[in-house]
Amino acid sequence: MKKIKVLFVSSELTPLAKVGGLGDVAGALPKALIKLGVDVRIAIPRYGVIDAQKYPQKKVAENVIVPFNGANEPVAIFETPLPGSEVPVYLIDHKKYLGENGIYFEKDASSSGSNREAERFTFLARSSVGFFEALDWYPDIVHCQDWHAGMIPVILKVLAKKNKKLGNIKTMLTIHNMEYQGWYQAETIFKALGFSASDYPALKIQKDGHISSLQQAILASDYLNTVSPSYAEEILTPEYGAGLENDLLTRKNELVGILNGIDVERFDPETDESITANFSAKDLSGKAKCKEGLQQICNFKKDKNIPVLGIVSRLADQKGIDLIYEVADKLARENIQFVLLGTGDPKLEKMMAEISHKYPQKMYAKLEFNAKFAQEIYAGSDIFLMPSKFEPCGLGQMIAMRYGTVPIVRATGGLKDTVADYHENDGEGFVLKNYDSAEFFETVKRAINTFQDQKKWYNIVEKDIKKDFSWKSSAKKYIQLYKKLSK
Ligand code: ADP
Repeated sequence: MKKIKVLFVSSELTPLAKVGGLGDVAGALPKALIKLGVDVRIAIPRYGVIDAQKYPQKKVAENVIVPFNGANEPVAIFETPLPGSEVPVYLIDHKKYLGENGIYFEKDASSSGSNREAERFTFLARSSVGFFEALDWYPDIVHCQDWHAGMIPVILKVLAKKNKKLGNIKTMLTIHNMEYQGWYQAETIFKALGFSASDYPALKIQKDGHISSLQQAILASDYLNTVSPSYAEEILTPEYGAGLENDLLTRKNELVGILNGIDVERFDPETDESITANFSAKDLSGKAKCKEGLQQICNFKKDKNIPVLGIVSRLADQKGIDLIYEVADKLARENIQFVLLGTGDPKLEKMMAEISHKYPQKMYAKLEFNAKFAQEIYAGSDIFLMPSKFEPCGLGQMIAMRYGTVPIVRATGGLKDTVADYHENDGEGFVLKNYDSAEFFETVKRAINTFQDQKKWYNIVEKDIKKDFSWKSSAKKYIQLYKKLSK
């Protein structure tokens, strides 16, 4: 049977270029798809920050012309396999638009970025559909990840008028977070693409002259999904729809929620080389060593009876960091230790620095991106905190559970779909319903009280480690959609 050909286009890709969960999904779902017989490939920018030593690349095309900002821009395409798989990754090489700086220009990957950001991701969108002829490979489906690839469905619709091969390509959009939309001056985008409003009359331009790249993708793609069933329902409401709920309602019949998985080979406590000792559900002695190692790094008292509360997160309003700040004094009076790894919003970084300075024996904050320390927290903590205001899917709680760390989450989006409350439903963690600091503190108390009963606690830990977070079943759902689309 003919293989379905799918091109992922993403701004992030773990492990080459990662900021958050988007990179993890782009780096893991294709691995599951290729195993199930999909000819899947990935396109990302060849950012200057990608380590060419670690990820050796070969040039597979050069002088591919991309019309942009009134010039014919030559790009080269480099190829490297996605580590741990045979999925080809195409690195689109263009120094000025894609190679300079890091991944995003804004520190918190915010949606209302600069012109440079508008140009970077419009260039990514335009060049991603420009190299098929050079490689003699046309995908059946371009699978756009988030707003960074959001202009692709529009670009394809315009280019298809003159190029039938491009007209045969279907598009699918995966929404990872409604809050990040890529709002830019319509003029900047039109100028960059060389389009005018009459080329694509469906383009929605706001009264103030801006367009949202995500909104365009929602309206123009052939199918859309988001990353958990609960979030797929929530985003149809004003509370979660970030102003696009009415557009989403018009696409309700082509919108589904498919739960993210995690890369269970990359995140495996039995083989993970970045943690102090390996362990499994059968033998948790390694986890105790990881806890001791973590306590040492944080200059905490080494004591297995004190519950360690961990958090690894982008520091963004969404993540409930303000709840932690609000209860910090009360928390410090408990017999706990708290460790945070995160970077992002300066206001939230300041809050976390403040509490760690105030309570150096109990609270520790590392304000940076650090893949190794992240694993040390997942493995060495007892409890993982994720009291998000909203959470499209959330990977942190799943990675934590895989490492036997019991999550405290707020019942929203993917957190609701992956963690049930231990007391209410004999579930895998502790759940708060409202975004409220008193309820958050009460939930933490429930968890640390349960921790005192080690037998009960290890039942939860064991349940969490054994839970299946692989991509297998969700990858099959994506394939069903690809098949439907490519018919
Ligand atoms: P989001 O996509 O909103 O950032 P997720 O929970 O879906 O949240 O995914 C976050 C991913 O990014 C996880 O793999 C987490 O471990 C990782 N991560 C977040 N912040 C950091 C950090 N400061 N250092 C290392 N890894 C981080």
